[in-house]
Formats: sequence, C-alpha cells, structure tokens
Amino acid sequence: MAETRVGSIEEDIGEVLITREEIEEAVARIGGEVTRDFRGEPLIVIGILKGAFAFMADLIQAIDLPMEIDFMDVSSYGTSTTSSGEVRILKDLSTSVEGKSVLIVEDIVDTGLTLSYLTNVLKSRGVKKVSIATLLTKPSRRERAVDIDYCGYEVEDKFVVGYGIDYAEHYRNLPYIGVLKASIYEK
Ligand code: 5GP
Repeated sequence: MAETRVGSIEEDIGEVLITREEIEEAVARIGGEVTRDFRGEPLIVIGILKGAFAFMADLIQAIDLPMEIDFMDVSSYGTSTTSSGEVRILKDLSTSVEGKSVLIVEDIVDTGLTLSYLTNVLKSRGVKKVSIATLLTKPSRRERAVDIDYCGYEVEDKFVVGYGIDYAEHYRNLPYIGVLKASIYEK
C-alpha cells in the first residue's frame, strides 16, 4: 500500500522537465494533428490507466471530431528491473473496436513493451487502424520498436513524475512533469 504522506508535493521536485505551458502546447499541437488526420473516420480514443488519464482528459478536448472513449489498465510481468516482455490486461475495453480507427493515448513510452503488446492485441480484434499518441518518449530505453504517430516531448533516461505519472501512487496531481529529488527515493 502507498505510504500516507502530508505536506507540499512541490517540495519533493528537484527539476522541472516539461512546464505546464509546454504540456499545453503539445496538447494543442497533437489535438490539431489528430483532428486533421481522423476526419470522417469512426474514432475510439483509448487511454492507458492510470498514467495517461490527465493527458487523455486534455487531449480529447483538443480534438474536434466525434469520438468514443474507453480505458485499459495493463501491467508488465516481472520486476521493475527485469521484464518478461509479457503484459497483463487488468481492465479491458467495454466497447467494441472492430472496424474502428483506434488512437491509444499513453503517458510515456519507455521500453516499448506495453505498446507493442497492446497494438498486437487490438489488431487481433479487427481494428481498422491503430495509432499512438504519447506525451513523452524515452528513445534511449527502447527494447521493442513502437510506431509513435503523435509525440509531445522526448526525454532523457530519468524517472519522471507529474501530470498523471506517479511514484508509488503519488505526484499524479502535479501540474507539470518533473524529476524527484534523490532524497525521496532514498527514504
Ligand atoms: P514500457 O512498456 O514502454 O516500458 O512502459 C511504459 C510505462 O512504464 C509507462 O506507461 C509508465 O507507466 C512506466 N514508466 C516508464 N518510464 C517512467 C518514468 O520515468 N516514470 C514513471 N513514473 N513511470 C514510467
């Protein structure tokens, strides 16, 4: 269970990587691109829980098209340092994706294992097209190739938090992307 904490969350941030303004710029840019690219297609936008919920909420409001939304929750098998490459679906879709264009919304693409698995699952369910929008990507960590169609920002290999992304279930409500002070991990 996550530890119950008190006090300001901003005090724990050592570095701001992506500001709130930069996030807003990326949301507007990607929203415009998706609006242009998906016109006239039945669209379903799928957010990957929990990390993508903040980006998903803002992004769908920047897309001026009819759409359905849904969510999936997934977790990787293995430990934080070793991954078997297998992904477990903890919450599946409640809508049918057959024949529809799907836009997966992710917070951050790291090794690429999660998204390479998910795109295969969705293709096996008969989707017309799978596209990927991610706020962040860490290309230096990639183990599986992932075709990212829409990307906010490339980040270096640092463990980030904020704007939906957690450390031990905290910091999701931080309005920007930051890196925690080393003292937080050492606790
Ligand atoms: P992948 O399957 O691409 O390795 O995993 C992507 C997932 O790993 C992201 O959705 C996120 O949950 C987690 N992740 C990757 N990098 C970070 C990071 O810097 N901070 C946090 N909190 N989670 C990360």
